[in-house]
Formats: sequence, C-alpha cells, structure tokens
Amino acid sequence: MYDVEEIRHHFPILERRIGDRRLVYLDNAATSQKPRQVIEALTDYYEHHNANIHRGVHHLAEEATVAYEAARRKIAHFLDTPDTAGLVFTRGTTEAINLVAYAWGRKFLREGDEVVITEAEHHSNLVPWQLAAQATGAKLRFIPILEDGTLDMEEAERLIGARTRLVGCIHASNVLATINPVERLAELAHENDALMLVDGAQSAPHLPVSVEALGCDFFACSGHKMLGPTGVGVLWGKPEILEEMDPFLGGGEMIREVHLDHSTWNDLPYKFEAGTMNVAQAVGLGAAVDYLESLGMENVREHERRLGEYAYRRLSEIEDLTLYGPKRERTGIVSFSLPDVHPHDLSQLLDEEGIAIRSGHHCTQPLMRRLGVAATARASFYVYNTEEEIDALASAIVRAREFFGAFSGAKP
Ligand code: PLP
Repeated sequence: MYDVEEIRHHFPILERRIGDRRLVYLDNAATSQKPRQVIEALTDYYEHHNANIHRGVHHLAEEATVAYEAARRKIAHFLDTPDTAGLVFTRGTTEAINLVAYAWGRKFLREGDEVVITEAEHHSNLVPWQLAAQATGAKLRFIPILEDGTLDMEEAERLIGARTRLVGCIHASNVLATINPVERLAELAHENDALMLVDGAQSAPHLPVSVEALGCDFFACSGHKMLGPTGVGVLWGKPEILEEMDPFLGGGEMIREVHLDHSTWNDLPYKFEAGTMNVAQAVGLGAAVDYLESLGMENVREHERRLGEYAYRRLSEIEDLTLYGPKRERTGIVSFSLPDVHPHDLSQLLDEEGIAIRSGHHCTQPLMRRLGVAATARASFYVYNTEEEIDALASAIVRAREFFGAFSGAKP
C-alpha cells in the first residue's frame, strides 16, 4: 500500500519550518527533495569508496567504478532498456539535449533539413536546436498546441515530412501538465526516416517509462527532479545512432588512442563521458531509482494523478482563477493565474505561509506568449505531497486574492 506518511519520514527536509510554519514544498517540477536513502548513498560513497573511476587499479578505484557502473545498470533498468551502451551520464536534461544537437545535429543536419519541435518546449529543447540550425542552415518547425494545452496532432501530421530529420518533444509539460503522444510522434518521425528525441525531464520522475515502448531514438532526463542529486542526468540513445555521432566533448576517458594529430574514440557510452564524471551523483541517482522502484512507478503515477486532479478541482473553485492545460490526463502540476496579481507577488505571499511554489515563465517563453501571459504560478507535486497540503495551498490563494483585491480596488 502507498503510505504517504511513511514516505514523508524518509525526507528529512520536510521537517523544516519556514518561520513558524511547516514547509509545504510544491516546487517539485523545478527540483525534488531527496530521501535519506539517497543522502546516505552519497555519504557512504564519499566516506568509504571515493576515487576516480575506470583509470586506477587500486582497491578504491575498483569499488568506485563498480558503484558507478551499477548505477548505470539501475537507470537502464528503470528506463526499460537492456543495453547500458546507450546510457550516457550527463549533467542533466539540458546537457543531454545539447549533446544530441551538437554531436548528431552538427554532423547530420544540412541546409533545407527540418527539425520539428513543439511550441511548448522547455528552452532546453529549443535553444540547442536554434544553435544547430544557425550552424547548419537547417530550419525549425513548430507543432502548435490547441486551446486545451494538448498538441495539434493534425498539424503534426502535416509538418512531419520528407524534409524532417528529427522530431523533438517534451513527454510531459512542465507548465501545462499535458502528457504528449510521443509514441505517435515517433511513428510519424520514423515513417519519414527521421529520428525522435523525447525530453523526459517531467516524465521519468513521475510515470513508468519504457524507452523501447515509446519507440524513441533519444530520451533525456535529470536526476535532481527524480529524488537524485543535482549534477547528474542521462541521455539514452540507440547505440547504433550514438555510434555514428561525433563526440561532444573531448578529453580523458572518451578516447581509445591519442596521437599528436588525431585521436580515435572509446566504446559507448564512454565516448560521450569525457573527463571526470559526477561519480558520487551517479551513485546517488542509482539510489534514487532504487527508491522509486521500491514505491513502484505505477503507484507514484496513481498518487500524483489523484493529487493533480484534486488540485485542479480545488483551485477551479477559486473565483477569477485561470487554470492552464487539459482537464484530464494530467501529471501532478497545476499552473494558474489571478487577474491583477503578479505570480511573483502571489508566490511571495504564499512563501510567508511556508508554501513553496514557482512563478515565472518556467523556461518556456514561447509557450507563455502562446498563452498570452508573461508568467504563471505553478504548484507541482511529488511522492510525498498530500491533499492537506493542496488544501493549504487553496486557502492561501484565497487569502492572497482577498489581500491583493483590497489594494487593487477589484472585488475581493
Ligand atoms: N525539460 C523540461 C520539460 C524541464 O522541465 C526542465 C527543467 O525544468 C528541463 C528540460 C531542464 O532540466 P535541467 O535543468 O535539469 O537540465
């Protein structure tokens, strides 16, 4: 049984107080909190095993290498891929997508080629492609979103065609809570001999993910959003495609032989892991994945689906409040705004009650323009959040609305 009270005991930070209030942490889409199991894995690594990996033959170097490679296998299992050769450690989703945009994009994109992404991408799946397009003469095309925040799939079918070389899409939106039909986009991409990249920053932490079942060629996610440490994430890519790509960063470990005038590359995935990696963080991410698997990703999804629906219902009862994104099939995120109240002011007022939410453009400025707003407020839930916390959020928003209404002269 999914016991949220027991789960909360695993997260020391949830005992914190902000002023005289209990912390209500609802900024999980930005970064999640860490269970004791992950914190202890980091401490244990540094207290007992720390060394540089792959290069040393001494005892600690062996242990550190074993721990790092064990983490790789755990994450490959978590993403349902048998092959660890395709599982590259990166700093996170941003670096993973940049890796593809440089190492694949610079090598294979040509003038006249098209990269198709969506209007709702996080900047990390937009700006790297803008840079790749500038460098190669390729063009970017954008799948629009419909009024309810879902993708316009009819337009997607029109846009993805003979010129398309790669389709890139967020699996789940960090603003709208939409879960996108990336499997269908992958089919469309492959029918046109294009590749499919899935930005899984907001899906891997929250939904059962199988890169095989998604049918994608690349999948990126960030450890810090899935109970793991900062500074580590992964790029999964089909090994045969990674093999054809140029290296991303040059240096130690990614080489096989180095001569003064040329070098040859190491086997996968090491070809893409130049220099000393974030070893402790990778081990910590392995512990995070163990923890999520002990909860069961189906249970995590069900818990967050319930919280997302409950929050959507509670917040839609608040007068004048606008909610963004589809009504159903949501992840555990709610983005909202109140007329005449800047989301920053709203989140500051909520902070005084110990409630941490996010306000801003959420690194999706084109999406904000599409929604006709400069910013939204966003509450995002995870394994340890409760309905009582959502009640606290809803009551605090009602009080904030009254507070700002009194100043603006608008009806409270
Ligand atoms: N993609 C999405 C959908 C995100 O929500 C985020 C982070 O908020 C990112 C990419 C970037 O992740 P990171 O900053 O961990 O690289």
